[in-house]
Amino acid sequence: MQDIFNSGRGTPSPASHLPRIVIAGAGFGGLEVAKGLQKAPARIVVIDRHNYDLFQPLLYQVATAALSPADVAVPIRSLLHGRNTEILLDEVTAVDRAARTVATRDGRRIDFDILVLATGSLYNYFGHSEWGRFVPSLKTLDDAVAIRRSVLLAFEKAEGSDDAAERSALLTFVLVGAGPTGVELAGAIAELAKATLARDFRHIDPSAARIILVEAAPRILGVFPEKISRYAQSALKELGVEVMTGTAIEAVDARGVLAGGKRIEARNVIWCAGVEATPVGRWLQVPTKKNGTVEVEPDLTLPGHPEIFVIGDAAAARGRDGKPLPGLAAVAKQQGQYVAKAIRARLSGERRTRPFRYHDYGTMATIGRKAAVADFGRIQVTGFLGWLLWGGVHIYYLIGARNRTMVFLNWLWAWFTYGRGARLITGDDRALNPRLHAETPAEGRQSSLVQQ
Ligand SMILES: Cc1cc2nc3c(=O)[nH]c(=O)nc-3n(C[C@H](O)[C@H](O)[C@H](O)COP(=O)(O)OP(=O)(O)OC[C@H]3O[C@@H](n4cnc5c(N)ncnc54)[C@H](O)[C@@H]3O)c2cc1C
Repeated sequence: MQDIFNSGRGTPSPASHLPRIVIAGAGFGGLEVAKGLQKAPARIVVIDRHNYDLFQPLLYQVATAALSPADVAVPIRSLLHGRNTEILLDEVTAVDRAARTVATRDGRRIDFDILVLATGSLYNYFGHSEWGRFVPSLKTLDDAVAIRRSVLLAFEKAEGSDDAAERSALLTFVLVGAGPTGVELAGAIAELAKATLARDFRHIDPSAARIILVEAAPRILGVFPEKISRYAQSALKELGVEVMTGTAIEAVDARGVLAGGKRIEARNVIWCAGVEATPVGRWLQVPTKKNGTVEVEPDLTLPGHPEIFVIGDAAAARGRDGKPLPGLAAVAKQQGQYVAKAIRARLSGERRTRPFRYHDYGTMATIGRKAAVADFGRIQVTGFLGWLLWGGVHIYYLIGARNRTMVFLNWLWAWFTYGRGARLITGDDRALNPRLHAETPAEGRQSSLVQQ
C-alpha cells in the first residue's frame, strides 16, 4: 500500500502504516461509516462527486420552491473533522478487486485495505433512457433546482401566451410514478398552483392547473397497505390532483406523453418511477440483480471479498424474512452504522461480526401541508396527526442545527401564509427544459400582456 495517492496528488499521510479505508459516496450510508470511524486507527478516504450530503426526502420541497437548496444539504467537510479523514471531490469510475485500487474520474488510483461502496442509485427509465431528455427526474440538488425553474417558468410563459392550447399545456404537470416521491411532488405542485400562486397572475388562473399523477400499478403508494393508498388517493383528490392508476406511459416527446393510449399535452413531465443502483456491479465485475444491485453476504460484504462492503441503495441485502430490503434512507443509515462498527471490531483484532439486522421503524409520505400517511406495521396513522409525525421525524433526521431551524421556520411560515420563499427562477432554462421553448404556433405573436 502506498503512502499517498498513486497519482501523486494526495497529501502524505502522517500514519502511513495504518490501514486505508476508502468510502465511495457520502450519502445516508457512507456518511455513517465515515462518522463511525472518525477516531479509528485508520486512514479514511471519503470520495463523493458532490461536496455536500443531501437529505433526499425533502428534495421535492426544493423542486416546489418551499425550501432552498442549502436547507436540505450540508457540506461534507463540515461534518467530518477527524484528523484521520481525507475528503475528495471526485467520482469513482472503476474498482480493481485484485489490485485493491479504486479509479476516479480525475485520474486518481487509490489503494484500499477496506472499501465501502455506498454510491446509491439513479433513476431508471425502464429501458427508455432516451426519455430522460424530456422527462427530468428528482435525485440531485441540481435536478431539484432545474425542476423548480421549469415549473415556475411554465406559469410565467402561460401568463405571456395568448394561445389557449399552449397555455393549457404549460399549466399541465404530469408526474410519472405514484410512490412517495410522485405523491409528495403532486401534492406540493397542487398547493403551489392552487394556493401560493393563485393571486399572483393577471391573465391566467394558476388554480386551474392540471396536476396528473400517472401510475402503472393498480394503486398508488404500492408499498403501503391498501387502506393507506385509498386515503392518500382521496387526499390528493381533495387537493385537485388527477390520479390515473393502471396506466403505463407508452411514449414521451418534447410536447407531452402518451399514457394508457391517451395523449396528454404537458410541458412539464417529471419522472418519479423506478430506480436502479449506481454501476457498482460493473465496477466490481460481478453479476447484478435486475435493478443493478449487488448481492451481499449477511455482513454486507461482497461474496469472497471480506474487504469490500456494499451498502444502501447499491446493495441487494436481505431482511430477516429473506426478502430484499427496500431502498430507504433508514436502511442505508443502519447499514452504515453497522459497517463502521464491524470495521472498528476488525481493527481491534476481532474476526467475526454478527449479521446485519434491519430495524424497521415505519414508512411515511406526505400529501400537501395538512396530511401524511405513516405505516408502522400494526399501527397506521393518517391525516394531520400523520403530518405532524412526518414533520417531526424529518426535522429530527435532517443534518445540522441550521437546517433544522431553517426548515422548521419555513414550514411555520408556509403553514400560516401558504408562502414559498424560494420561488426564484435562476439559470438558463433553455438548456434544461426544451419543452418550454418548443416551436409553437403562438411563438412570435405578441402576448396579451404586450397588446394591452
Ligand atoms: C426524491 C427522493 C425522496 C426520497 N424520500 C425518501 C424518504 O422519504 N424516506 C426514505 O427512507 N428514503 C427516501 N428516499 C430514498 C433514500 O434517499 C435512499 O434510499 C438513500 O439515499 C440511500 O442511501 P445511500 O447511502 O445508498 O445513497 P445516497 O444517500 O444516494 O448517497 C450516495 C452518495 O454517493 C455519491 N455518489 C454517487 N455516485 C458516485 C460516484 N461514482 N463516485 C463518488 N460518489 C458518488 C452521491 O453524490 C451521494 O452523495 C428518497 C429518495 C429520493 C431520490
